[in-house]
Amino acid sequence: MPFLPGFLFARSRSWDTIARMTVHAPTQYRPDANTIDAAFLTDVVTGHIRLTSEQALTLYHDMPLHELGRWADARCRHLHGDHIRTYVIDRNINYTNVCTAKCTFCAFRRDGDEHDAYTLSYDELLAKIEELVAIGGTQILMQGGMNPELPLNWYLELLTQIKSRFPKVHVHAFSPPEFIEFISFFDPPGATLEDKLRYVMTQLHAAGLDSVPGGGGEIFADAVRRKIGLGKCDAEAWLTTMRVAHELGMNTSATMMFGHIEGIADRIHHMDLIRQWQDRSIADFAKDGGGRYKAFISWPFQRENTPLGRAKEWGQSQSDDLSQPFPGDVVAKLDGSGVKSDHPEFGRRVRLAGSTAYLRTQAISRLFLDNIYSIGSSWVTMGPHIGQVALGYGANDMGSVMMEENVVSSAGTTYCLNEPTLCRLIRDAGFLPAQRNNEYNLLKVHAGPDSPDLRIDDWSTLRAQRLHTEQSQPAVTAVDLTVSK
Ligand code: SF4
Repeated sequence: MPFLPGFLFARSRSWDTIARMTVHAPTQYRPDANTIDAAFLTDVVTGHIRLTSEQALTLYHDMPLHELGRWADARCRHLHGDHIRTYVIDRNINYTNVCTAKCTFCAFRRDGDEHDAYTLSYDELLAKIEELVAIGGTQILMQGGMNPELPLNWYLELLTQIKSRFPKVHVHAFSPPEFIEFISFFDPPGATLEDKLRYVMTQLHAAGLDSVPGGGGEIFADAVRRKIGLGKCDAEAWLTTMRVAHELGMNTSATMMFGHIEGIADRIHHMDLIRQWQDRSIADFAKDGGGRYKAFISWPFQRENTPLGRAKEWGQSQSDDLSQPFPGDVVAKLDGSGVKSDHPEFGRRVRLAGSTAYLRTQAISRLFLDNIYSIGSSWVTMGPHIGQVALGYGANDMGSVMMEENVVSSAGTTYCLNEPTLCRLIRDAGFLPAQRNNEYNLLKVHAGPDSPDLRIDDWSTLRAQRLHTEQSQPAVTAVDLTVSK
């Protein structure tokens, strides 16, 4: 057991200070240091030293799970203090499921002529926001498929109507793949991708778009992305979209979906690109009021009802030799240069991530992403209780009360939590629950007897509703993945 300095756990900050904190990344590396040395990791935790990609990979593979969790927790406490962990009340609104892309991990998309294809009307969208406001919600997360039938004016009018009816609701909307398709659908003027993005994004921002969610990040490495994200933008386009948002003063989040065909080095490479582009955004735009990545959220791939989910698990085929590395690990390179030809079964085998792989990956993200303020727990995919445990593995935020979710629930996982339950999970983990806004400013710290969870006398009613419902699914027949190209 390494030495974990007591001062890291005794730290205490006022709530106000925590809310205003920004993250300053260190510029110093110590590539020759013993990565699992306590003195070295103490410097990482206190923000004096930055992990290299190689060191992050070593920690992932070599450090026992709980030990890794303790270091990630120490880093989280250094940034966010010992007292408060946050949540937001927002609503996921998926305005259309019509999509030109064919991501192999997606069970949500439809072609425009399918019987259950939909696009919400303005009235339906506004009614959903009204319900959100009624329960004290402050933000909508609005993403859709990439629907070629919707012109730019449809989005501008939608945002205008939202802001005129609900001026205080924060609109966190349209992920980078949607923006890249907007460029293709709307053909805006501009010599470069950045010019075109700036043209479209400026108009949407003026109409009411407040910030940009990090959907569609998946895994950036080209070999993986080409296999799983058919028709979706590449890493460069994704990162460029966020850079333009930062230039225009909007904050964004970043995401990663792992536990499929990728290697562990691909996960580190993904985080490394986010860290590099965050450095650039802060250096280039922060002094003029620019935005930045405020949060990173990662979650394991949900397999049900998806083409990718029908790929065999590694070891399921008699020809798989488990004494050899997983194909994704053979292909993956820390600089993202892996090529699919490095393993004949690459893309045809998945390695699903369970709770420990999730916690390990999240802990690494907290230690590695030294220039990102918030790490979000993914209880939506992992379930409330692992989501709660994640607060001890580097996460400072429990994300949102879930009124509605359509994308991962299409892939077989449905968890719904109300505000009292979310607060109770945070409190039972040893923290004060606090409602935040999109900027991570604290709106309400639930310290008194009127806290949402402390007002509940009888939890049996909530228990009866179940925290976690998994849809029953037909048995999955293992087949080779044939949709890759
Ligand atoms: S994940 Fe998004 S972009 Fe990909 S097919 Fe599904 S809806 Fe379309």
